Amino acid sequence: MPAKGNKGAPHRYIKSELKSHKKVWEAEYPIRWSYMKILREYSTLRQFYPDIDPYAEAYQMRENMWAIYSESLDGMGDPWIYAIRGPRKTAVIDTGFGVGNLKGLVRKLTGQDEIIVLNTHSHFDHAYGNGQFEICYCHRDEEESMRRTMNEHIWDYLYDPQTREGIYSDFDVDDIIEYHDYQLRLLDDNECVDLGDGYLIECIPLRGHTVGHCGYLDRQNGCLFLGDTTGVNPINYVKNKLENNCVERLHDDLEKLCQRLDEVSGVFPGHGMLDQTPVMVRYQYQATERILNDPENSDETKIMEIQGQKVRSCCKYIQQGTSMKYSPDRVYYWQVRDYHFYGSSEALVPVKNERYRDVVNPRHLYDLLKKLWDRHSCTPRLREKWSEEDPSVGQCTITAVLVQKIFGGRIYAMALEEGGFHHYNEVDGHIFDLASEQMRGRKLVYDCAIERSAAELMERPERHQRYLYLKEKLDRELGLADEAVND
Ligand SMILES: [Zn+2]
Repeated sequence: MPAKGNKGAPHRYIKSELKSHKKVWEAEYPIRWSYMKILREYSTLRQFYPDIDPYAEAYQMRENMWAIYSESLDGMGDPWIYAIRGPRKTAVIDTGFGVGNLKGLVRKLTGQDEIIVLNTHSHFDHAYGNGQFEICYCHRDEEESMRRTMNEHIWDYLYDPQTREGIYSDFDVDDIIEYHDYQLRLLDDNECVDLGDGYLIECIPLRGHTVGHCGYLDRQNGCLFLGDTTGVNPINYVKNKLENNCVERLHDDLEKLCQRLDEVSGVFPGHGMLDQTPVMVRYQYQATERILNDPENSDETKIMEIQGQKVRSCCKYIQQGTSMKYSPDRVYYWQVRDYHFYGSSEALVPVKNERYRDVVNPRHLYDLLKKLWDRHSCTPRLREKWSEEDPSVGQCTITAVLVQKIFGGRIYAMALEEGGFHHYNEVDGHIFDLASEQMRGRKLVYDCAIERSAAELMERPERHQRYLYLKEKLDRELGLADEAVND
């Protein structure tokens, strides 16, 4: 939602010939503001065609690439749009607010008629001009969010319907280009779009800010377009892919991109400074790492109200950049993912065994085990039924013992109708069962009637072997040294 920015002009006003005039200003980032002031007031790269689009000015950054500036119309940061001229067609990366004739401007700059849009994500300031074009691409995971913006009401929040006056910025409502449906095409991770003669632009997944946020890499000139990587939204508006809306996902995606910085000549973000050095990606990655290591230790914290919900908004500073915004409630996968094992809402108890302090809680352990459970750790009787799709099959007893080792509490046995027992855990009054998904569709009774000790469960040598096997896999995953104690 549009921010409550600073009302009234800031003390460092930037001269502008644009037709829009701000009423609400973005909070001033010193590093960004000074850059924009110099660029807009003194740069010789500026191209302004008010007869075509009085809301945008362009800066030619490469022989075939332009950065297009327009003011934010909702009080947030001013967005960048980019145009890349390929051998046969032009790609426009993001489309801003859709006020003013962007398509006409891009045609003027590139001299090409065939234009496709590549969206980094679906937000107001990045995709509301999509309706001016026929074909727009986005990452597959962004589809649901993007479809919510495909209608003529997206601009309603920008102006008062009675007076037709802008709320955050003065602009002429008649300059909104009428909405037209367009074809939405979906890109997979690292899929390329061809601008003709093998001129490839690659979709780089950089999820976190939104569930399907991505960047684009121009494989020819090495320009990397980052979109809004410097912030994970505190609230997700779609139901799908929740695990993509946390700092940990952005961290994992940035980690992959860091391996490829030798392919990058310059970094072009969705807001702020242009043509940054490739090392910026590493600095952003390092900011996500510092957040994961200690989310509570932020450089700034404030309470924001978004759609009636109070959320804590924190940020960590980025070297040579602004800051990485996040909510402490959306840092790790285990905070945002949907879990389907029994008692998952209770499975948040802390670690008791100091050796395993890197395992945050049982949900986190479940994420780890999901990758570690295999055919060998499965009880021999059920090995035929074990599969990667159903990895908890035959793992309940050794898992319950491992849970107790890490989190303490008790192990209970549930008698099954077909004979035999299923084991689960209780810790400080919280009952959960990490291996319950194999029991789908069956009636399970968690009455804590039959307690078992780890020692009696480990009496069977075959089972003890499987337990040690799984524990060793976990230790390796966590980078733990061999344990001297034999259990
Ligand atoms: Zn955004």
